[in-house]
Amino acid sequence: MSIDKDYELAKAYDSKYCLNVFNPLPIAFSKGNGVYLYDTEGNRYMDMIGGIAVNSLGHNNKALTKAITEQAKKYIHCSNYYVIPQRSELAFRLCSNSFADKAFFANSGAEANEAAIKIARSFFYYKGQPEKNEIITANMSFHGRTMATIAATGQEKFRKAFAPNVPGFKYVDFNDISAVTSAITENTAAIMIELVQGESGVHPATKAYVKELRKICDEKNILLIFDEVQTGIGRTGSLFCYQNYDVEPDIMTLAKGLGGGVPIGAMLCTDEVATGMKPGDHGSTFGGNPLACAAGNCVMEQLTDNSKAIIANVNSVSSYLFTELNKLATKTNKIKQVRGQGLLIGIEFVEGIESSGMKTLLMQNGFLVSSIGTSVIRIAPPLIITQREAAAFVKALAKLLKK
Ligand SMILES: *Cc1c(COP(=O)(O)O)cnc(C)c1O
Repeated sequence: MSIDKDYELAKAYDSKYCLNVFNPLPIAFSKGNGVYLYDTEGNRYMDMIGGIAVNSLGHNNKALTKAITEQAKKYIHCSNYYVIPQRSELAFRLCSNSFADKAFFANSGAEANEAAIKIARSFFYYKGQPEKNEIITANMSFHGRTMATIAATGQEKFRKAFAPNVPGFKYVDFNDISAVTSAITENTAAIMIELVQGESGVHPATKAYVKELRKICDEKNILLIFDEVQTGIGRTGSLFCYQNYDVEPDIMTLAKGLGGGVPIGAMLCTDEVATGMKPGDHGSTFGGNPLACAAGNCVMEQLTDNSKAIIANVNSVSSYLFTELNKLATKTNKIKQVRGQGLLIGIEFVEGIESSGMKTLLMQNGFLVSSIGTSVIRIAPPLIITQREAAAFVKALAKLLKK
């Protein structure tokens, strides 16, 4: 069965055998290269969403393919019963390039956040303060799809069908310091936010807000958790988004871009927070797997090499895109706002332009984006996108807005 060349068969089996939670667009890919994907008919698309901020090095990246292939030839998996050199190396790379002292590896963003939520509670449990277990998160946040992370997610639509929800979460308006202050009690263990809310339409936190959160957390002995599952790994123009804010968290989570497409998540924390986990308190069969860590090491190596060329590219293509998209907004009066950081950008259209319709039109014209709500499209292309490639996207969008 060569189903990867037969869209109709793939579609039929998808409808018949796959749980209907994704409602996929009528398209399947057979290969990719750089910023491009090719569908089963051979049509080329510029991947401006990069698997939702995942394909950080682009498709068919030579170094990444080599790293995974070489590791697969040695061994793909061994249990965390043993020292895993690839895991040691990735922990070292992440800690030596961030605020963190310790890393725990998982397989997804939700799992990384589970580890963050667990350690925020166990940290105070081992200090003899088990009642200090509440976590404050933001309205319109997104932290994942597991039971604890939907409870952490400040959007009722993700929780409502799965009651009873995990208790201990409080939601406050984003970028509103007084809302946080009034929600804090003696039992607040942690405040958990995304620095740029990705899934709800690309809304960045303000610098003043993040700085103030750090201050409050220090004063009240509360842990500050940054969910950098989407914003981390070069996406926002620094290796980690918190570096754009000059504010360090106590705990940070990563996933999406870390493996360049190979599933991996990570929870990073300080040595102090790390006292909140003892052997046996947490674990994972696959987390820290040699294959996934080989991918993570390759991505980290490329992002932190001496030239820092990829991060420099993120910043230059980002400023080009912001300039050109804002020009387009002025010229057409059809774009309400362009926001985000680095190569995580939300384009909000004025009323009357549906983002899902725009997404479909862009796809028909060879560009892949995601749409959020009724008015926003999000782009999060591979970090290696060139200015010329970005220019082709702006041109296509301009042409569609003209119509
Ligand atoms: C995507 C995302 C998650 C969930 O990651 P999964 O790998 O889908 O579990 C969590 N937090 C943020 C900010 C995300 O963007």
